[in-house]
Amino acid sequence: MAENGKIGVTTEDIFPVIKQFLYSDREIFLREIVANAVDATQKMKALASAGDFKGELGDMSVRIELDEKEKVLKVTDRGIGMTEEEVDKYINQIAFSSAGEFLAKYKDQISSIIGHFGLGFYSAFMVSKKVTIDTLSWKEGSKAVRWSCEGDPEYKIEDSDKADRGTTITMYLSDDASEYASKSKIEELLGKYCKFMPVPVVFGKEQEWKDGKYVDTDKDHVINTIEPIWTKAPADLKDEDYMKFYRALYPTKEDPLFYIHLNVDYPFTLTGILYFPKIKDRMAIEKNNIQLYCNKMFVTDHVDNIVPDFLTLLHGVIDSPDIPLNVSRSYLQSDSNVKKISTYITKKVADRLEDIFKTDRKALEEKWDNLKLFIEYGMLSDEKFQERAMNFALMKDTEGKYYSFEEYRKLIEPSQTDKDKKVVYLYATDKDAQYQFIEAAKNKGYNVLLMDCEIDAHYVNLLEQKLKDARFARVDSDSVDNLIQKEEKIKPELSKEDAEDLSTMFKAVLPAGNDYVVSADNLGEGGEPIVITQNEFLRRYRDMSALGGGLNFYGEMPEAYNIIVNMENPMVAKIFSGEKESVKPQGELPPEAAKEASEEEKKKASEARQAVIDAHKGEVEAYAKSNEMLRQLADIALLGKGLLKGKALSDFIARSQKVVSDAYMKASE
Ligand code: ADP
Repeated sequence: MAENGKIGVTTEDIFPVIKQFLYSDREIFLREIVANAVDATQKMKALASAGDFKGELGDMSVRIELDEKEKVLKVTDRGIGMTEEEVDKYINQIAFSSAGEFLAKYKDQISSIIGHFGLGFYSAFMVSKKVTIDTLSWKEGSKAVRWSCEGDPEYKIEDSDKADRGTTITMYLSDDASEYASKSKIEELLGKYCKFMPVPVVFGKEQEWKDGKYVDTDKDHVINTIEPIWTKAPADLKDEDYMKFYRALYPTKEDPLFYIHLNVDYPFTLTGILYFPKIKDRMAIEKNNIQLYCNKMFVTDHVDNIVPDFLTLLHGVIDSPDIPLNVSRSYLQSDSNVKKISTYITKKVADRLEDIFKTDRKALEEKWDNLKLFIEYGMLSDEKFQERAMNFALMKDTEGKYYSFEEYRKLIEPSQTDKDKKVVYLYATDKDAQYQFIEAAKNKGYNVLLMDCEIDAHYVNLLEQKLKDARFARVDSDSVDNLIQKEEKIKPELSKEDAEDLSTMFKAVLPAGNDYVVSADNLGEGGEPIVITQNEFLRRYRDMSALGGGLNFYGEMPEAYNIIVNMENPMVAKIFSGEKESVKPQGELPPEAAKEASEEEKKKASEARQAVIDAHKGEVEAYAKSNEMLRQLADIALLGKGLLKGKALSDFIARSQKVVSDAYMKASE
């Protein structure tokens, strides 16, 4: 028997289409061919267990063989096989016409065809110049047939010498697909696409080290030994099973913090296991570690558009036949199943975290530092998650204690409510750099949170909006007395000229290049003479702009500091009265030019006024620069803020040594 025929399709150009458009993802051919072999094997097992087949099943492994030299790849199963009629029906007609329909329908979304399953058997032509099927049906009295095709609509059917039940697909790799004529490449693809297939997939032999080289043993090398535990019932699994599975999936990664077993069959089917990895900082974030499967067949590890962005930080496996794979990626997001799936996963993640919060608070606290970036990112990017997370998110204070939002509110409300009835949340972003301010706040009976996470500038903003009557202030954003204003405070009264002189004096002894706003305040006789602070909002927006987010304007501004001068401090009082004694007041300014004066006269008059102002300013500056106590106090304040550097620092040290030596020498005279 030998018969030639033409494959029954209208689209004669199907082969070029298959070859060209699937080029970039053509490695999926192996998944398709092995999956067909697995299907046929499963069907055979089903026939046997239903009693329709009474013979011996024998070894049911799917076997892959590669002849690297001849560039021939074979996939053999011991499944149900096909009769000649079946080959005609399944290979020549149905499969092909559905592929043709499929391609015609998605012509303009060619890239999205990638990963689509229906192409099945014909995807072998993406890498082969010739494909043959040798098959013997399980049905009694069947004759083995060989189907062959060389990548055009002509096929040939003839007798086959296949004696064993099942099917062998032989692929003669084309010249432009020679990369698949490599054992390591095939091994890699099998590992990627077939590691959870439900029957043993054998590729070559196990090897052992003998006489200085690796040699084959007579044991089959089974590539799919990892059990897809997500298909099991959670009740049948122990923590250790989940950890073992994680290690098998990600052999190089540290153990995860927590896991979630997903299991739903209505209104869509989805199973899977998600893991929370340890995330220490933004640099360590890795996306695309979730693998998407469809009935245990690997589809992709790009799950963006399927799960919410923040969940792409998780690791693990999702398996769902309900995720449409034949649509473009941008369309995915609007697909109603995908939306439901995404909402479901978000809800499950929140449920799990809330459950840990309620039943194992200690574990949550222990792992919080590695988890918080993920949770904060989720809260910032997903409103639903944010609402849920308000119930289980933790706050950590500078002493390392953890609180829920509710607990923390209760803790600080009595002592940290200001005159406008706002509860002021104090926080530090760097325990060492802001040490002085943290201590000052603690001494006043306040609690200080630690917000040292990369995205905390944004997070603080979010919390300020979401927590009722709340205001966030970094501990160094004002003097401790002003951080939480309990009542209207009486500020020192200074004339305009005095206020200007004060400002001139301090600016004269502070490093150039920054913006300073100098203001007088009453912080008590024993209070610090000078406090340098940074406006909460300017600083926060600056930090936010450094992380990106359309606030570049703030990032380009010079650093701005508030210089709060404590007029009640005796040293400040002395400096100020000294200035009054040694510098003449500026006095009256020369008159402005009359309206009708000429341009020349106006210019002259204005220059004369400026000269008086400048002369006075110059005298104040000279006084300030020569006032050792002022310089010393200013430098100490700068030092506390970490702003004293380079020459200014070494000058300060030299001056301090002299001050110390003078004081001690005088005392011992
Ligand atoms: P699909 O698998 O999506 O149905 P394919 O083109 O991959 O499409 O295969 C078409 C049909 O050919 C299958 O449904 C099956 O009936 C038959 N077939 C393919 N491979 C085998 C095999 N190894 N053993 C038995 N039948 C097979």
